[in-house]
Amino acid sequence: MKPLVSIGWILLSDVTDSSLLREYERAIAKVRDAVSNDFPELSWEMPFVRRRRYPPHGALDPLDLLEAGLLEKTKNKWDYAIVLVSNELQPRYRISTIGVPSSALEVAVLSSSEIDNNDNPDEQIAMLALHLLGHLWGLSHDDEGPMMPPEDYKSLKLCGFSERQKEKVAQRLREVSDERLEEREAKWGHLSFYWSTFWTDPGGILKDVRDYSPWSLPIKMSRMTAATAVSMIFILMGSESWEIGIHFSPYLLFVGTVLAVVGATIFIFAGQNLGQISRETGYREQLSRTKIVVFTTLMQGMFFLWLLFMFFVIVVGLVFPRDILNSWLGQKLTLTQLFKFASFAGILGLLAGAVGGNLEEEEEIKADLFYDEET
Ligand SMILES: [Zn+2]
Repeated sequence: MKPLVSIGWILLSDVTDSSLLREYERAIAKVRDAVSNDFPELSWEMPFVRRRRYPPHGALDPLDLLEAGLLEKTKNKWDYAIVLVSNELQPRYRISTIGVPSSALEVAVLSSSEIDNNDNPDEQIAMLALHLLGHLWGLSHDDEGPMMPPEDYKSLKLCGFSERQKEKVAQRLREVSDERLEEREAKWGHLSFYWSTFWTDPGGILKDVRDYSPWSLPIKMSRMTAATAVSMIFILMGSESWEIGIHFSPYLLFVGTVLAVVGATIFIFAGQNLGQISRETGYREQLSRTKIVVFTTLMQGMFFLWLLFMFFVIVVGLVFPRDILNSWLGQKLTLTQLFKFASFAGILGLLAGAVGGNLEEEEEIKADLFYDEET
């Protein structure tokens, strides 16, 4: 028997226009044909469900739609989900967007608001869906096949994946259709479940973390970085903080840094409800995987923030009038002492930032972490 891949389609707009509904059904059939053709070694299931959650007018926030899609996907035990809406989508980073894929959640949002009714709308929707699925399957943009970045609906022409893309996708799908962890073992303790989830695919999880470029989090979470910077100025300008900082042992500073990074991560993770990606209870492997990826990304982001401030303090320490520093300390400042002070200031800054980071709008952080792009 061929392994099964299921992609659920959820229509969340209350569409009553029967011709549009027919276009959706035709589009889904076309996507199924395209992937069955490209990946004949798998069998494909594409259930289509209708939920009348939103009136078909007005722009919708893709984040809400992703979360709704995730809920349906988990409930129905699909591998992937595509949320269809006839509404426009509220863009966050671009001027406009017709689709938002989230490979972390394995859900994509597709808006048909801009379909061009004269020119095979079903084909355009199908092609956009293939592009979004390509992102969910880990493909990046390319100048051939569905991974060409679509500019608008008019430019969408249906075609299959290229050989190279097929190979990559086939490998990803083989992993997915492998037995899910929770089917192997019914009962799991909390931590041991996360632990074993991590060890089923450590390389893949770390790759996902890298794809999020955690080093750019300090720039993205600007309010948090600003809070840290303000506290940093106070720390730098006080002779007491210099005096305290240089007298810590390197060992204590190391432990303090680790604790501050982990503590700040937990604080933001819990404060932003990032752990509550879905209200689902029980241990779904994929969800725990997403949480592990998000947590690790945040943790690396915190580490880079610490590094950034440490670097900043060292530079400031080097250009600061040396006489003043020496008179504050009552001795000559050595390079080792400067390093000690910098890591001490980094720890304080990080803790201040974690508090400031919680002022950050929850939605912003979630969008940063979950969106692959705005198509
Ligand atoms: Zn794209």
